[in-house]
Amino acid sequence: MSYVPEKTIYLCLAHMSEAGIEQKYVKEAFDTNWVVPLGPNVNGFEEDLKQFVGGKNEIVALSAGTAAVHLALIGCGVQPGDEVIVQSFTFCASSHPITYLGAKPVFVGSEKDTWNMDPALLEQAIKDRIAKTGRKPKAIIPVALYGMPYDCDKIMEIANRYEIPVIEDAAEGFGSKFNGKVLGTFGKFGVLSFNGNKMITTSGGGALICENAEDKNTIMWYATQARDAYPYYQHTAVGYNYRMSNVCAGIGRGQMTVADDHIAHHKHVQALYEELLADVKGVHIHKQPNDSRYDANYWLCTATIDADIKVQGQENAYKETVKTAVGGAAGVIKAVDSAVTDCQPNDNVEALRMFMLSKKIEARPVWKPMHKQPVYQGAPFYTNGVEEEIFKVGFCLPAGPYVTDNDVKYIVDMIKEAIVK
Ligand SMILES: *Cc1c(COP(=O)(O)O)cnc(C)c1O
Repeated sequence: MSYVPEKTIYLCLAHMSEAGIEQKYVKEAFDTNWVVPLGPNVNGFEEDLKQFVGGKNEIVALSAGTAAVHLALIGCGVQPGDEVIVQSFTFCASSHPITYLGAKPVFVGSEKDTWNMDPALLEQAIKDRIAKTGRKPKAIIPVALYGMPYDCDKIMEIANRYEIPVIEDAAEGFGSKFNGKVLGTFGKFGVLSFNGNKMITTSGGGALICENAEDKNTIMWYATQARDAYPYYQHTAVGYNYRMSNVCAGIGRGQMTVADDHIAHHKHVQALYEELLADVKGVHIHKQPNDSRYDANYWLCTATIDADIKVQGQENAYKETVKTAVGGAAGVIKAVDSAVTDCQPNDNVEALRMFMLSKKIEARPVWKPMHKQPVYQGAPFYTNGVEEEIFKVGFCLPAGPYVTDNDVKYIVDMIKEAIVK
């Protein structure tokens, strides 16, 4: 193997257009003094997004995907004490905003083929919550994990039958489709994220896809401190400061010119992994179901490694506590006393992560299911154990415009090297 990357190959990095169109829009914001959380770039970005999702929905650009989840819950009328059904296998931003509202998450497990919300478990959860509480959950949040579509047909059918609104968390599924229709346009609301590591970025930001102009108006009102129409500040509800900055939206407009290229590249990288990993025993790349309705964006490539496959350094896995956030995540992580928890990836997955890092490749565990998180102890959950099983054997691999064919070949070679024959 002669090829060695110059820099660490990260999971997914922000990637600007070759032509620097982002900077042109950002400069325009400065030149016209629209350095505020509204303005021509915000409007233009919303229009671009509207066209991107098919032209029939309305868009509100926001400061984060997490803010979009929060406002969608408010848009569904979620109140303190209400229950909201959410996919357990996800990033914490799908469920945390439920608790911001004093409402309670009810976690639903995943199906094997998509790793997303299992429709049978969803219906079981709805029935059981009605039986136990006498009330229907206020909303259902399926998540397009790593960009994979959930079974929109079944989930929407169940949600419609019980008349419960759906908030699609398509933060990772930007541009993924089901039956030719863009994710985020099936439910009452669709969440998008433009964080630095997502399919496209505004440095940080998000958007809420709304079904109609009335919902858009409500969301916009809550996103801008909920002011009533008086010459002074008059409030009849508690609002938020969640609007997207016109500077960030400029980056977004530039990114929209390369969004299709990004998605095509992610799919290309996935196809290459599928081809090259096909003959690696015990390692299984996660693919979309062999069903023409599914069209994943493959935001990250994910795989599993069988428990009986031995990886170099496995005996040293989890011997030391982690000192910095894995993957260089932003912010601060709280120091811990123990290197282990009662629910963690297998030793060979941790050994693979460490081995890959030593070869300048970022690999990461998959999301830890929310019903296994200490912060959600006691929350009701409905599962067959699928997501917990995947959490033990799953890992994420780099994808995105910065990942070259040579990188993918190198990554697969390093996986082969890590495995003890
Ligand atoms: C990234 C993400 C969000 C929201 O993200 P922000 O970082 O707040 O933009 C929500 N849900 C999922 C599943 C995500 O991956």
